[in-house]
Amino acid sequence: MRYTSTRDARVDVTSSQAIARGISPDGGLYLPKTIPALSLWEIKALADMDYIGRAEHILSKFLTAEGGWSRDELQGHIGAAYTSFADPAVAPLRDFGEDAHILELFHGPTCAFKDLALQLLPRLLVSAAGKAMGGNKEILILTATSGDTGKAALEGFKDVPGTKILVFYPCDGVSAVQKRQMVTQEGGNVRVVGVIGNFDDAQTGVKSIFANESIGAVLAVRNRFMSSANSINWGRLAPQVVYYISAYCDLLRQEKITAGEAVNFVVPTGNFGNILAAYYAKRMGLPIKKLICASNENRVLTDFFETGVYNRNRPFHATSSPSMDILISSNLERLLYLAARRDAEQCAGWMRQLALDGRYAVPPELLRSLQSEFAAGSCDQAQCAAAIRRAWEDKHYLSDTHTAVALHVLEAYRARTDDATRSVVVSTASPFKFAGSVLEAIGAPVPEDEFDALDALQAAAGIPCPAPLRGLRDKPVRSTETCAPARMAEYTRW
Ligand SMILES: *Cc1c(COP(=O)(O)O)cnc(C)c1O
Repeated sequence: MRYTSTRDARVDVTSSQAIARGISPDGGLYLPKTIPALSLWEIKALADMDYIGRAEHILSKFLTAEGGWSRDELQGHIGAAYTSFADPAVAPLRDFGEDAHILELFHGPTCAFKDLALQLLPRLLVSAAGKAMGGNKEILILTATSGDTGKAALEGFKDVPGTKILVFYPCDGVSAVQKRQMVTQEGGNVRVVGVIGNFDDAQTGVKSIFANESIGAVLAVRNRFMSSANSINWGRLAPQVVYYISAYCDLLRQEKITAGEAVNFVVPTGNFGNILAAYYAKRMGLPIKKLICASNENRVLTDFFETGVYNRNRPFHATSSPSMDILISSNLERLLYLAARRDAEQCAGWMRQLALDGRYAVPPELLRSLQSEFAAGSCDQAQCAAAIRRAWEDKHYLSDTHTAVALHVLEAYRARTDDATRSVVVSTASPFKFAGSVLEAIGAPVPEDEFDALDALQAAAGIPCPAPLRGLRDKPVRSTETCAPARMAEYTRW
């Protein structure tokens, strides 16, 4: 199994090189040259296994002996990664009425779906760096975060030997709960810095550090290199393929479907990483009819799937589902590359246009082929709140704001099509992470203080607040550093 770049067909690397480097030197994203197959017979066998057994089988198709991975090594990493989950099923599937289900991906240490990948990525990255670059180089992970990624990356990398992790968050751009999650982070190799500015300032600062060759050279002299923990890294995507296949296995085991029966998946989408993993599962052979891409008011992807024009020149909306407030969905590049039959030149052209004009258009036949596999829809603030209230009142299911976007989009999709296929809605965060919005939606009083809101939601819903969030108010603050965007690069000397 070799890997190439979405922007340069000549790139030919192993999985270890792809994971260690994160992004291809041509600016493109790495992906496997062929998509491994998964037979129905294998799916049936996986149905009898637990999550860890399923993950080992599926990941060994992407991380092969050629990249230096042994089955024993993978088993060790995967086993260790998923022991920190509060639910022994790791990614449990709940019933949501007769013909829908909710795949809960928020039982990890930070209560958002990023844990499914970021509990495993650090182990893969350290090992991949050893295989691909030799010696014992130290990896400096740089991350700009608008909330969930930073905390999940900190938890994943804390005290991992051979790594240091530096997270930049916008001082005034994250919620009180998200901020407290980060500034109370424990671990000897972590550093959390508030950037005086907004998320774009933090993100631009990190990008310019990566692009600065002299910083890279200085680090190399000290036997260090930089890498990123965001979803451009293939090592973050591969672990996400697993839970789609696992959900299908659970439906089989619960006799909700027969082997080979197709299902739909509805995915709350921002950077297009999560739903891209579902597309890979489909291309491997998982029986999926439609992948339904759910957006909030920042509906750049909805418009793209409807018209074939991707246009980021539009107002940015700050919504109650902030992890999906995004206008450049990086991982769409991987889908376009595959849909264009691996034409790297074509793909590079679109990405150049996006950088120059903020927009590009795909040809009609390519749009039609995408529309045969994807549906898309968006959800405004009032519809999101209404979806939370309906789920709570009709089904006694407490949904977070991101999941509610997907619940609304599924309902609208069913109303406008005659597609009654059994559907799995992907739930990406615990409702307690966004307690204020959820309380408001279910018609309960909202306390001013975000930590009081956690208690209030627990009382109103009669559902215990997850342990990692419960203790947050009294945890000691360990990081108080702030800096101006222009001074971010100095932290790489740490
Ligand atoms: C990151 C995130 C998303 C968006 O996932 P993508 O892979 O970027 O599409 C959705 N919901 C939550 C809670 C998230 O943290």
